[in-house]
Amino acid sequence: MEQEFGNGWAEGVHPDDFDFCLQIYVSAFDKREPFEMDYRLKNKFGEYRWIRDFGRPFYDLDETFLGYIGSCYDITNNKEKELQLIEAKEKAEDSEEKFKTIFNMSQSLICIADINTSKFKFINPTFEKILGYRQEELLNKPFFDFIHPDDIKPTKEVVEKKLQAGIAVQTFENRYLCKNGNYCWLNWNSYPVPEKGVTYAIAHDITKLKKNEKELKEKNEEYEAINEEYKQTNEELFNAKNRLEESEKQLKRAQQTAKTGNWIWYIQENKLWWSDEMYNIFEIDKNTFTGKLDEVIEKAIHPEDKQAVEQSNYSVMVNNKPIPVEYRINTNGGQQKYVLGLADKITLDRNGKSKLLTGIVKDITDYKLTQKELIAAKEKAEESDRLKSAFLQNLSHEIRTPLNAICGFSGRLNKSNLSEEKRNSFVSIIQNSSNQLLSIISHVLTISALETNQEKVYIDKVCINNIIVDLLAIFKQQTVNQNISLYAKQPLNDKQSEIYTDKTKTTQILSNLISNAMKFTHEGFIEFGYNLKDNELEFYVKDSGIGIKVELQEKIFERFGQADLSINRKYGGTGLGLAISKGFTELLGGKIWVNSEIDKGSTFYFTIPYKPVNEVDKAKTDNSEKLVNKKPVILVAEDEEFNFLYIEELLIDFDYKLIHAKDGQETVDIFKTNPDISLILMDIKMPIMDGHTAAKLIKEIKPDLQIIAQSAYALEHEIEKYSGIFDDYLTKPITEDILIEKVNKYMINK
Ligand code: ADP
Repeated sequence: MEQEFGNGWAEGVHPDDFDFCLQIYVSAFDKREPFEMDYRLKNKFGEYRWIRDFGRPFYDLDETFLGYIGSCYDITNNKEKELQLIEAKEKAEDSEEKFKTIFNMSQSLICIADINTSKFKFINPTFEKILGYRQEELLNKPFFDFIHPDDIKPTKEVVEKKLQAGIAVQTFENRYLCKNGNYCWLNWNSYPVPEKGVTYAIAHDITKLKKNEKELKEKNEEYEAINEEYKQTNEELFNAKNRLEESEKQLKRAQQTAKTGNWIWYIQENKLWWSDEMYNIFEIDKNTFTGKLDEVIEKAIHPEDKQAVEQSNYSVMVNNKPIPVEYRINTNGGQQKYVLGLADKITLDRNGKSKLLTGIVKDITDYKLTQKELIAAKEKAEESDRLKSAFLQNLSHEIRTPLNAICGFSGRLNKSNLSEEKRNSFVSIIQNSSNQLLSIISHVLTISALETNQEKVYIDKVCINNIIVDLLAIFKQQTVNQNISLYAKQPLNDKQSEIYTDKTKTTQILSNLISNAMKFTHEGFIEFGYNLKDNELEFYVKDSGIGIKVELQEKIFERFGQADLSINRKYGGTGLGLAISKGFTELLGGKIWVNSEIDKGSTFYFTIPYKPVNEVDKAKTDNSEKLVNKKPVILVAEDEEFNFLYIEELLIDFDYKLIHAKDGQETVDIFKTNPDISLILMDIKMPIMDGHTAAKLIKEIKPDLQIIAQSAYALEHEIEKYSGIFDDYLTKPITEDILIEKVNKYMINK
């Protein structure tokens, strides 16, 4: 023995082999035969080794059993190989069995084919079951013979591709020809084993699946077609909706542009429907619109036009005869609009009852306004035509009058027996008439120069005070003759009044205005002068004449514009003087206007820019009010304008500034805002507050301010009554000497 084993045999034998060894020993003893057995025995390292034991029972001569004799070999290496072989063999037998069972029983088609010839080498019985062929009809036939012609190429391609790529399992589908001539769909898994020259393949019948798939596909296609149709319908609907929206938009735009809305009246429900433009025209908020026709007629339509609108609706409803109607609406925005309405169609229901009334409304406000303007322009043109004719008549009359005198009296001059006195009188008449004629002609020439923009302005240094003084001198005598008082005012000193302007034109404007004032004033006064206001000189000519109606106060500045024809008949004139004055004022950069009251008088104003001759002067004159205020100030409380003007006239030669208050209250107010007042001349009997009360109030505030009463109360006791308040007393009528004496007395040192 090559291996050393332990002492006790029984302890060394592998527990699993012990019984087996005992059996062999017993059997050999019983049969008196040699034995051979393999078992595992532990060596001295505790490792089990395979032992082959050859032995036999051993007897003595009288046949008594003595024991066993034999020899053992370590067969461990051989034994392991042998055991593996046995195991492999058992396994092979087992799997072959299993394979056979699977091969025969499987519901799948299982086959083995030659890899080169594609011929079937084995097929399982399922082939017959599914394809209908007997084994011999398929064996040794190439499987390509049975594949559907359309599937041969794809099958070959898949097989070769996978083979080249070294993919073990090849999966594909193809159609196989059945014995009954039908094709059956098979799903293949093939396993080529090139080293053995075969391909193992297994297939499932998927014909039903394919059929379902096909049906599914067809169904799908059907659904897709329906879907497509649905999509198309949807698209068409969408397009139609878009087109509808677009045409609605266009309609809306068209209605907006044409300012025309349309409406439907659902008669039985008494409900109005309006297009958007209707809301715009009526300026009604869509959300608050009640849709009630009565309400619209009541609230929005002008009361005088309601009947016409209702009649127009009625005409369509009863006679089916549309009648357009123009009417006014009062919009929610408070505007009055003109619209053209037309109820155009009545629709009846099945029972012949009125169902719908439709119509349109067009906003014609602009058109109406233009029409009105046109009418006004036409009337104006007619008026100006009328004025022109009247002017020509006037002109002819105005020219003929002096011409008559000139022609008539110049003819008489030759008379030999004419006295010197008469001759002089005739010459004077001829001269006056020539001047009159010259003035008319120059007026006509000036107005035409103004109209053709040929009138030029000549700016030079002009002393305004000189103009005022000259005009006063020119007109003074005439006013004395007419028994009218003429006053002139020049608040600036001569230097301050020196400005840059056109002397001739300024003089002519003032002269025209004074001439007119004299022409239209029969009693009372005329006052003219100027005031410095901001950067303008504001001239005025005030009279107590016949006055001008308010509605004619603009018209008189137009060419040939006279207040009325009766005036022309009475006063003569061409109606050009004010138009020329206006043209000149505008040429000088100012404006002209009038304030007037019938039978009370008129004040004409015009402005020209105040451009003082030098800057130093300007700086001073900018505060001309202040400069003027530097003069001692006398407040004259007098409700009668003439009385005030009279006092003013009497004090004209003194360097006083007079302020006029027309009642007691005004006197107190002026006193409070003018701390410079040095003296007050107080009338007693005045409206609103009498002079006595006013004086008391003033004295309470400023006891040392001197107040002279001026009143018609001449009795002693009356004078006494006021003496406690007043510093002095003037009895009306006031005489120049006494006034000057008393005023100067109190104004000394002020
Ligand atoms: P005319 O030469 O006719 O006076 P004007 O243009 O000077 O032409 O005046 C136009 C009209 O204005 C006069 O006809 C008159 O009706 C009216 N008018 C002008 N000044 C006065 C005035 N101071 N008082 C009343 N009416 C006046």
